[in-house]
Amino acid sequence: MEFLQPTSWGEALAAKAERPDAVPIAGGTDVMVELNFDARRPAALLDLTTVADLAEWSVDGGRIRLGAGVSYARVISELGDRLPGLAMAARTVGSPQIRNRGTVGGNLGAASPAGDSHPPLLAAGAEVEVASVRGVRTMPAADFYTGVKRNALADDELIAAVLIPQAVGPQQFSKIGTRNAMVIAVASFCVSLNPRERTVGTGIGSAAPTPRRALEAELFLAGALDEAGLWESRADLPGSVVGEFGEKVKAAASPVDDVRGTAAYRRRGLAVMARRTLTWAWTSYQRGG
Ligand SMILES: Cc1cc2nc3c(=O)[nH]c(=O)nc-3n(C[C@H](O)[C@H](O)[C@H](O)COP(=O)(O)OP(=O)(O)OC[C@H]3O[C@@H](n4cnc5c(N)ncnc54)[C@H](O)[C@@H]3O)c2cc1C
Repeated sequence: MEFLQPTSWGEALAAKAERPDAVPIAGGTDVMVELNFDARRPAALLDLTTVADLAEWSVDGGRIRLGAGVSYARVISELGDRLPGLAMAARTVGSPQIRNRGTVGGNLGAASPAGDSHPPLLAAGAEVEVASVRGVRTMPAADFYTGVKRNALADDELIAAVLIPQAVGPQQFSKIGTRNAMVIAVASFCVSLNPRERTVGTGIGSAAPTPRRALEAELFLAGALDEAGLWESRADLPGSVVGEFGEKVKAAASPVDDVRGTAAYRRRGLAVMARRTLTWAWTSYQRGG
C-alpha cells in the first residue's frame, strides 16, 4: 500500500487528482478499523494530518469555517458557545481517545447515517465546502449525503471545511444508544431555534438511509411560534405544539429494523427526543438563551 503524505492543501489536491483511488485518512478512527478488519484494502492512503490548514477554524461572517481536520475535542473545548449543537453531539462521540483523533470531516467522509455530526450540521443549516484541482464548490449538508455511507464527493475531491452558522438561539441534541458511551446511535435528533430569523432547524440521525431534516416539523413549529407571538412573549409552549412537533419529526423518518433497534422503536424514540429537545431549547430561550 502506498502512503501519500502531502504537506500542503495544494499538494493534497494534486495527489487526489493524480490518484483518485487513494483513500484519504484524517483521524483514522473509521479508516483504520476498516483496514484492520480487512473490509478495505486501498492501493494508496492519502494522509491529511500533515495539512495544517485543515486543522484550523476561523470566523467567516456569521459562520464558523471549520476545517475538515478539526477534532471533536477541539469543537468541544473551543466552539461550545458558538456551535452548541455540534459540541453537544461531539461530547457523545466514542471515548476521549476517539474525540482526540476523530474529525467532523471524517464523519462526513464516512457519511454513516448514524454519524453524530450530521443532525447538528443539518439543524444549523451548514454547508460543506469541497475542493479539487478543478476548483471549490459548496453545498448544503442535506445535499452532501447521497445514500447509506455515500456522499457527493467526486473521485478527485476532498472535503475542505464545513461552514456552520453561529448559533443565535438555543440548540439541543439527543441520542439514543444501548449504553451511555462508546455507542453508535440507535437514533439521534438535533433542534436549533433561530429567534432572529424566526426559523427552526432539525436533523435526524440513524433513522433513514441518510441523515435528514424534518422539514414539515420545522415549518409547523416556526408557524406555531409566530402565530401565537411566542418568539416575543417567551411564554410556555402549548403541549399540543410540542406533541405535534414530535409527531411530525417521527413522520419524517424512514428507519429500518436492524441489530441496534427496530424501526418502530426508532420512530417512537424520535418523537420523544423531539419533544424533549424542544422543551429543553425553549426553557433555555425563556431564560434568555
Ligand atoms: C471506538 C469507536 C467509537 C466511535 N464512536 C463514534 C460515535 O459515537 N459517533 C460517531 O459519529 N462516530 C463514531 N465513531 C466513528 C468515527 O470516529 C467518526 O466517524 C469520526 O468522525 C471519523 O473521523 P476521522 O477523522 O477519524 O476519519 P477517518 O477514519 O480518517 O476517515 C473517515 C472517512 O472519511 C474520509 N475522509 C476523511 N477526511 C476527509 C477529507 N478531508 N476529504 C474527503 N474524505 C475524507 C476517509 O477517506 C474515510 O472514508 C467511532 C469509531 C470508533 C473506532
